[in-house]
Amino acid sequence: MMSYGYKPALSEGAIKCPIFQTSTFVFQTAEEGKAFFEVAYGLREKQEGEELGLIYSRINNPDLEILENRLTLWDGAEDCAVFESGMAAITTVLLEFLKPGDCILISSPLYGGSDHFIRKILPKFHIRALTFTVGQSKQDVIRLVEQAGCAESLAMVYIETPANPTNDLIDIEESKAIAQHFSNQDKEVYLAVDNTYMGPLWQHPLQHGADLVLYSATKYLGGHSDLIAGACLGSKSLMTRVKGLRTFLGNMASPHTGWLLLRSLETLKIRMDQQARNAEIVADFLNGHPKVEKVYYLGNLTAADGRAMEIKDQQCLSNGAMISFDIQGGAHEAYQFLNSLKLIKLAVSLGSTESLAEHPATMTHIDVDTDLKTQLGISEKMIRLSIGIENAKDLLWDINQALGG
Ligand SMILES: *Cc1c(COP(=O)(O)O)cnc(C)c1O
Repeated sequence: MMSYGYKPALSEGAIKCPIFQTSTFVFQTAEEGKAFFEVAYGLREKQEGEELGLIYSRINNPDLEILENRLTLWDGAEDCAVFESGMAAITTVLLEFLKPGDCILISSPLYGGSDHFIRKILPKFHIRALTFTVGQSKQDVIRLVEQAGCAESLAMVYIETPANPTNDLIDIEESKAIAQHFSNQDKEVYLAVDNTYMGPLWQHPLQHGADLVLYSATKYLGGHSDLIAGACLGSKSLMTRVKGLRTFLGNMASPHTGWLLLRSLETLKIRMDQQARNAEIVADFLNGHPKVEKVYYLGNLTAADGRAMEIKDQQCLSNGAMISFDIQGGAHEAYQFLNSLKLIKLAVSLGSTESLAEHPATMTHIDVDTDLKTQLGISEKMIRLSIGIENAKDLLWDINQALGG
């Protein structure tokens, strides 16, 4: 993360990649410009050892290219595209792989923005969404797709695991099996996984059969609550399609955002390690606190949880740093807790160096229908915490005083 893909000699010896704050790049000759465009527009394949020349910052820019190359290392991906937000990455993927008449199968709950785009905006393009939730078996889900008349038109399975804010787990390999069940020689049903909640360290969906991995790079990847960005990773051939649409939507990240993310990546592992360690300490404390009814934390799963524990062992490399809990009482007690915090900030978002707390039922998940909220367990007494890198003793002190001492 400190040096991969960057050649100081190309930047006056600068030890770190500078910000290439430039809109366009000068060609040495007209022939060179032609050669770069042929590759960029897919008119010919790159020759052995040929690199895509720099043309224009909507198509490529050194800060983005170096960042994309580094990001591929964590997930073991062939290629990566960085976007100006997580939503830009997600919507570009949906628009590239879906067409009018298609169905998309989604896990529920999804991130509010993704859910809104899929259920409220995609129908304008005659794309239908089918939803499944944790606990439905592969056979149940296959039947659901068939009964909806989507067996022929299913084009994508799109999941988010662990689910926000309950930490429910969806089986990535089983989701791939469902996608394969509806694939045939005429069409391949792709599996896309939003891996924001685990970041690139704690879960590697491509290794479990996913075709595309998506991130809100605003969260762990950025990690300092000072930028908005997104990323998509996958095979060369799928990423050529994603990058192609990105060029024409023009929703790539700026050079400055790319540069900030390069800085963030240098500390990604030490930040995430510390966040996971702190989360374990906070979860232990909440588990034993008389004013806490229930704690939703991957580290609390045991063999008695059956399937959930099996999925965790199969695909999660850490318990993560997201904890939700039900406070004794209801909305009043939850708000009192949030208003009493002194160190932990009352804000949405997650994965940053500072710890954050929020109230899913009336904030991030306010738009989820009441019945679904009840079914998913997102009640008025639930509080969601994103654990940062502070001294864990300070976090326990703050949570304890906010719970009333
Ligand atoms: C924040 C988030 C997004 C959206 O990302 P932005 O960078 O805010 O556009 C998508 N998915 C998940 C799981 C998120 O937490």
